[in-house]
Amino acid sequence: MNNLDRSWMSLRRCSDKYISGVNDFLDKAFQRASKGNEILCPCKKCINRYWHYRNVVEDHLIVNGFLDGYNKWIFHGERLSSRNTPL
Ligand SMILES: [Zn+2]
Repeated sequence: MNNLDRSWMSLRRCSDKYISGVNDFLDKAFQRASKGNEILCPCKKCINRYWHYRNVVEDHLIVNGFLDGYNKWIFHGERLSSRNTPL
């Protein structure tokens, strides 16, 4: 469950893999952590501070990219698990 491949997050943002990864992220985020029709936007500019509609978040993630190091989606329904951290 926790060893999902997140390597797409560092791909070029115009690549098909990145875009399909973004859509996968959006599906999960809306299942787990939406408020009405919005989720917190994890792009570099919003930094999980602002709620946006799906199409806006998708745009931001393609134009701005994900917040650096946000490969554990803790604002979108994933928990930091002590079992899976190296220490
Ligand atoms: Zn944003």
